[in-house]
Amino acid sequence: MNRITIANKQFEIFLDKDMIQKRIRLLGVQLNVDYEGKRPLIVGVLNGSFLFMADLVKELNINCEIAFMRLQSYEGTKTTGKIKELIGLPENIKGRDIIIVEDIVDTGLTISHILKTIREQQPSSVTVCSLLLKPMALKHEVPELGYVGFEIPDDFVVGYGLDYDGLGRNSNDIYKAV
Ligand code: 5GP
Repeated sequence: MNRITIANKQFEIFLDKDMIQKRIRLLGVQLNVDYEGKRPLIVGVLNGSFLFMADLVKELNINCEIAFMRLQSYEGTKTTGKIKELIGLPENIKGRDIIIVEDIVDTGLTISHILKTIREQQPSSVTVCSLLLKPMALKHEVPELGYVGFEIPDDFVVGYGLDYDGLGRNSNDIYKAV
C-alpha cells in the first residue's frame, strides 16, 4: 500500500518493512560489538518503541535485561512542549550500562527529560538508540544519542509503533503525512 488514510489524514509510504528490518540488523551488530562482555539494561520508551524494541533485542546475542518506561509529550501532530511524568523507570540503575530505546527524537525534549532523570541515578553509562531522528527539528542537544536508525526530514510519520491519534502503530511500514 503506497497511500493510507488514518482518521481523515493522508499518508504515503516512506520507509518500508525491508528497509527498517535491514537497518535494525545493523544496529544490532553495532550493539553486540559495543556491549560485548557487558550486561546492559535496555529500556524501551512506550508506547512508540514497542515494535522497534522487540525487533532490536532479537538481534542481540549479548547478555541483556529488558525494561519499559512510559511518558507522553504529544497530542495529535503537535508537540505540547510539556512532559508528563515518567512511569516505571527501573530502580537500582546505579552502576548499570543503560541503553534507552526510542521510536523517534524530534525536538529532543522528551529524551532530554528522560536522560536527566536517569543521570540522577548514577548509571555507569547511558546511551540512546532511536529508530528515527529529525535533525532539523532538534532543539535540545542530545550527546548520548549513540545509535540512530534513520535521519528523516521534519515530517509527521506514522506506523511501526508510531501513531496518529492512537492509530497506525500496527503497520510494518512507516508512512509520512502528505
Ligand atoms: P520530542 O520530545 O523529541 O519533540 O518528541 C518525541 C516524541 O514525540 C516521540 O517519542 C513520539 O512519541 C512523538 N513524535 C515526534 N515526532 C513524531 C512523528 O513524526 N510521528 C509520531 N507519530 N510521533 C512523533
